Amino acid sequence: MKIKTEESKRHKMVKETGFYDILGVKPGCSQDDLKKAYRKLALKYHPDKNPNEGDKFKQISMAYEVLSDPEKKAIYDEGGEQAIKKGGGGGGGGFHSPMDLFEMFFNSGMGGRSKRERRGKDLVHQLSVTLEELYSGTTRKLALQKNIICDQCEGIGGKKGAVQKCTPCRGTGVMTKLQQLAPGFVQQFEESCRHCRGMGEIIDEKDKCKKCNGRKTVRDRKILEVNVEKGMRDGQKIVFSGEGDQDPDLQPGDIVIVLDEKEHPIFKRSGQDLIMHMQLQLVESLCGFQKIIRTLDDRDLLITSYPGEVMKHEAIKYVSGEGMPQYKNPFEKGRLIIQFFVAFPDSIPIDMVPSLEQCLPGRPVVKVPEDAEECNMLELDPDHDRRSGHYKNAYDEDEDHHGPGVRVQQCAAS
Ligand SMILES: [Zn+2]
Ligand SMILES: [Zn+2]
Repeated sequence: MKIKTEESKRHKMVKETGFYDILGVKPGCSQDDLKKAYRKLALKYHPDKNPNEGDKFKQISMAYEVLSDPEKKAIYDEGGEQAIKKGGGGGGGGFHSPMDLFEMFFNSGMGGRSKRERRGKDLVHQLSVTLEELYSGTTRKLALQKNIICDQCEGIGGKKGAVQKCTPCRGTGVMTKLQQLAPGFVQQFEESCRHCRGMGEIIDEKDKCKKCNGRKTVRDRKILEVNVEKGMRDGQKIVFSGEGDQDPDLQPGDIVIVLDEKEHPIFKRSGQDLIMHMQLQLVESLCGFQKIIRTLDDRDLLITSYPGEVMKHEAIKYVSGEGMPQYKNPFEKGRLIIQFFVAFPDSIPIDMVPSLEQCLPGRPVVKVPEDAEECNMLELDPDHDRRSGHYKNAYDEDEDHHGPGVRVQQCAAS
């Protein structure tokens, strides 16, 4: 049982957890956990994929924008959502639109992008991969839909010469209108041209391309071969340059595949290291043991304790070169870190105690004062005590066996 850490004490100081709940993280989680949670949810609820979940997409964006900004987060942690909405984000001034936030998040680190406006948008897809696949590398086929230029009309939309500039909007696609607000007070505003539906041009019905119906592009199914290389990471992007939607007036954007590492039942990844827990019986911890570990590429590793060595509860050892391969340098591998957990027997036969005692280091001598009061020990159930309000902060909330040296992610997204 561990005493509460500084980190978990801080949880108590958060006024409300709504934004944390939206992202499925706990207060006090790291920026990496936040990013991961946003990445997963934003891709899932992006209007391109989930047009009916626009509100959810907005909530995710708002929550991430607040919690990823130390200033806004501090305001939220102290005053909750009310404080954020009132303060407008404390000097930082307002919020990004969910779409802008999404673009900033997924484009950062993708290198120089010069002329944005003449380029179609990127299509971002998530690809779920196992730790085994990231260890050994794999090729995955991904089927997706995209717009391609109609081959029938070569992107013109109809017969040559059939395309006419729209007269009402003079080919601009927008109409300027005047609205009288009050006598002598006129406001000017723009709206999409109804005549050409904002396209700026018109094709006569009879001249329209039969295949694309004048839209210039058609939907097409495309199979992408995604090469997942050894040692790639969760969140890593694989970019297919210029493979995004085609449009006769734009440079096609990219298709961006974002890797999403599935949780493994045995191994947790920590950078290049793999971490696992191993149960030992008390007899193994005292008298030695041999264990087999099945690796991610299906080999069996044999580990053996040294003769006479005692493996203590929560002891941590490692095997070098059995961690994850390094990306682009896969012969270089990290460590396999093993943390041991010793299962004690509930009782031992009383007649065995003397012989067992003989094998163990001697016990300390206790001097019993004459007036010592004898008492009984009772079983303490921390769960029960916590529910009834005793010892509220005395014990750690999560009883999972995280040893002192090994930090396993505490607040992965759900
Ligand atoms: Zn066509
Ligand atoms: Zn028009």
